[in-house]
Amino acid sequence: MTATEHVNLAQFMEGVKRRNPGQVEFVQAVQEVAEDIFDYIQDKKAYHEYQILRRIAEPDRVVSFRICWEDDRGNIRVQRGWRVQNNNAIGPYKGGIRFHRDVNESVLKFLAFEQTFKNSLTGLPMGGGKGGANFNPKGKSDHEVMRFCQSFMTELYRHVGSDTDVPAGDIGVGAREIGYMFGQYKRITNQFTGVLTGKGLEYGGSLIRSEATGYGAVYFLQNMLARVGDSIEGKSCVISGSGNVATHAAEKVNQLGGRVLTLSDSGGFIYDREGIGEEKLNWVKEHKTRSRGRIADYVKEFRHAEFHEGKRQWGVPCELALPCATQNELEGNDAKTLIENGCVGISEGANMPTNLEGVHRFKDAGILFAPGKAANAGGVAVSGLEMSQNSARISWKEEEVQQLLVDIMRGIHDRCVEYGGTPGSEHIDYVRGANIAGFIKVADAMLAYGVV
Ligand code: NDP
Repeated sequence: MTATEHVNLAQFMEGVKRRNPGQVEFVQAVQEVAEDIFDYIQDKKAYHEYQILRRIAEPDRVVSFRICWEDDRGNIRVQRGWRVQNNNAIGPYKGGIRFHRDVNESVLKFLAFEQTFKNSLTGLPMGGGKGGANFNPKGKSDHEVMRFCQSFMTELYRHVGSDTDVPAGDIGVGAREIGYMFGQYKRITNQFTGVLTGKGLEYGGSLIRSEATGYGAVYFLQNMLARVGDSIEGKSCVISGSGNVATHAAEKVNQLGGRVLTLSDSGGFIYDREGIGEEKLNWVKEHKTRSRGRIADYVKEFRHAEFHEGKRQWGVPCELALPCATQNELEGNDAKTLIENGCVGISEGANMPTNLEGVHRFKDAGILFAPGKAANAGGVAVSGLEMSQNSARISWKEEEVQQLLVDIMRGIHDRCVEYGGTPGSEHIDYVRGANIAGFIKVADAMLAYGVV
């Protein structure tokens, strides 16, 4: 085969699998994008010649490092950390840090790949990256978490910077962890710069950053429904997770007149037929975030509710669903159940929560389905606004950031509509729209740079 001869989708995916053995999550994320991009670039010679998708699917670099720390009993512990810098064609690498027992290179590579498209969709100048460690923060004392974060940053600081790579939070990394990491970065470099986002308001954070991902996912749902003359008001809604994204998504659903029936964690889900209103949600936030408790305790506090141990919530009849916990938590059969139960709209607050079979089922059913790379982009968008405020050394008012978030989510929705239309039909394939719209900006910047 000559260098300019085109491979087809199957050949391309064979190569991705061969070069990334055992990295199932990464291969899955590339497959989901490649299915749409191959179709789109069929007649676009330059994207083929310059191997654009092949290059986006090969991270610029993957840094892996050892993290040593001492627990409260004096034991020396060793963890593995990574930073995946996927693509900086349109801006500094940007993407969260995840601390979770199951973190590995495949998970972080899939997240960094997805992040490249997501950041492009926001319209802001941010490339794609992701990082983390196989550190389980559950059950650790504040001092243990602090020592771990400091040790993590003692290596990471060499690879990040306000114009190079700007990490943020993700699963297991919230305001506490960002504070410890920022403190260590500042101490090592003697610089106060916007090297991390999701910071506390006292030291350069942006208003609305904590709320942005969950709120944004609901705004996206609202935009999809509005386009077909519908709304969230009065609709029942099933949400998974009970962390940052899930609780803020639930808050916004409540504010828009919807009724939240479920929340979950890795132990199971709670089902509250009366709805998880503002007061109950505040209890969940306090219990899960500040007290680091379990969602199962909800039924001790609100006795009419049910706890389903070790189960997922997708069998609860609902009109709307927001998967907001983790990757591959909604499988093909779950998608089938949701469709059969009359669910009309799904918005992914988490990254790749629906597996490939589930995505195909939603696409085939023609229901409103917003992929994470579009629907949960509100968080990184406000992170981008935090970077701007840090560079200008100013803080914007809450109403300004709120309005920008609403506008950015509408912009992402409209870009998906532009590229996700189906000839002869009113239906929008939001997965296709997000993949193509996210791809074009990155691809055109790469073409401008030549072969680098
Ligand atoms: P949090 O750590 O705040 O919350 C994660 C929630 O998901 C917890 O309820 C957790 O339960 C649950 N969870 C984690 N792993 C599993 C698992 N294997 N099975 C079942 N439940 C699980 O994280 P976030 O809310 O920040 O992130 C949630 C998702 O949203 C992730 O996919 C993340 O990548 C994505 N996201 C987050 C953004 C942000 O701004 N924070 C931005 C864009 C996307 P438990 O407490 O038991 O671990």
